[in-house]
Amino acid sequence: MAAISNLDVRNEFPADSTSELRQLTHFIAGRYTPGQARDFGKVFNPATGSHVANVAFASGKEVEEAVRTACLALPDWADTTPLRRARVLFRFKELLERDAKEIAEIISREHGKTVVDARAALQRGIEVVEFACGIPHLLKGEITEDVGRGIDSWSVRQPLGVCVGITPFNFPAMVPMWMFPVAIACGNTFVLKPSEKVPSAALRLAELLTEAGLPNGVFNVVLGGQDAVEALLKHPYVAAVSFVGSTAVAEHIYATAAAHGKRVQALGGAKNHAVVMPDANMDTTIDALVEAAYGAAGERCMATSVVVAVDNVADALIQRLAKRVRAIRLGPGSDPETEMGPLITQEHLARVRGYVDAGVKEGARLIVDGRDVKPQGRDDGFYMGGCLFDRVSPDMRIYREEIFGPVLSVVRVHDLNSALNLINEHKFGNGATIFTQNGRVARTFTHRVHAGMVGTNISLPVPMAFHSFGGWKRSLFGDSHMYGPEGVRFYTRMKTVTNRWPEEKTGALP
Ligand code: NAD
Repeated sequence: MAAISNLDVRNEFPADSTSELRQLTHFIAGRYTPGQARDFGKVFNPATGSHVANVAFASGKEVEEAVRTACLALPDWADTTPLRRARVLFRFKELLERDAKEIAEIISREHGKTVVDARAALQRGIEVVEFACGIPHLLKGEITEDVGRGIDSWSVRQPLGVCVGITPFNFPAMVPMWMFPVAIACGNTFVLKPSEKVPSAALRLAELLTEAGLPNGVFNVVLGGQDAVEALLKHPYVAAVSFVGSTAVAEHIYATAAAHGKRVQALGGAKNHAVVMPDANMDTTIDALVEAAYGAAGERCMATSVVVAVDNVADALIQRLAKRVRAIRLGPGSDPETEMGPLITQEHLARVRGYVDAGVKEGARLIVDGRDVKPQGRDDGFYMGGCLFDRVSPDMRIYREEIFGPVLSVVRVHDLNSALNLINEHKFGNGATIFTQNGRVARTFTHRVHAGMVGTNISLPVPMAFHSFGGWKRSLFGDSHMYGPEGVRFYTRMKTVTNRWPEEKTGALP
């Protein structure tokens, strides 16, 4: 079966007659649905600054339609055997691989990151699909024979119902794929509300799921912003909410959804520290730091935003880092020569520049100033160059708050203990990494650091699909990390059965 709609096909809801813009709308029950289409947002190409599409904003009515559709699809899907559910996911994985280049280009066009980076992130999403293909094994329960005389007991995990995903702009395909492959493999149905800034990738995933043979209504996409989210959080038929985004919104999602009786996991913002010890291998450390701080223009929740330079390592480190940061090639994500693309919107660009201004005002030393750096001939794109600060202190805003841009701060400390105290006192605890050649130092760090995802000599310690992803402190609200074994637990509820059979001996039975 061919893809049911090419996203370049215009107009799923009435467009302005003079407009050549793509009009993006909801995907409910296996097809595009215009809904009421009273309210729209704008989607931009950050590389050119041009307005490339309009995105429908769902009201309560479209949310109601999506949730009811998911509810109606639930009984049959929950009764479909795990083996058959897995087969749909196997087919979905093949289609993702078939169309990977196209999906990466869709992501790059709306987000700005390089196509290569978008493809790599998609691969991490595909790995979650691969994990979810193992669902017949993952759902195997536990059994105890003879909990009492003639009594056996076993536990099984059953689906929750209609699950919701609310996702951020920075990983338009990967973050939704942290959620729905596991949720639907477990027998749930799903409503995704992707970021209104990058809606096209989620719609393409919905098309591919349909092509893979997923029954209509099992996976639905509603587009929009806060109104759609509020309606989803309070809907009585929604059983669980998975959220990834900024901390203020994550906290609100957690409180509101929990108050309405939902199971919630809400992943928030970050300030990831990388500790560099004096014995670190400088060549590989610099490579790792440049990728971790400036890749995807710093718009990654696992991006390194603080380097903690221990003892006498700072001067040489900063000198070498500065040289590399100045040399980063800025440009559109579609250009294979580009190393760093634009930021997501004009507003976000202004915000990130504002942080750099604040850092200078507060007394940090701006070693590389990328505030006004643009690729030649691309003045309208949302670009800025990499920025590098030295002598940042913990009281500064650029240290305390998440910037979410290509800005790296160096804090100087005397020893490993001071580095650990600094990290452990920070309000965020997503990722942390250490660069050293000393096993004892690495072990002490990984054991004592207060963060959910920790690395040694690794730029981005993102767990693979068969582990689980999540932070500590104000980087996660709720109990469960995402995907992997924690994902299976989150998207299922346990039932424990205790059975006694009468013991009379009848007929040929012993
Ligand atoms: P965001 O919080 O602005 O938006 C996330 C989602 O919430 C979007 O779908 C958006 O429409 C919705 N939303 C926004 N404001 C809302 C409100 N007031 N009420 C209800 N819903 C609302 O985040 P973003 O700017 O799209 O993404 C960047 C943020 O996401 C960064 O803080 C980054 O650290 C975080 N992030 C965290 C992780 C993680 O794993 N911890 C992963 C990726 C991104």
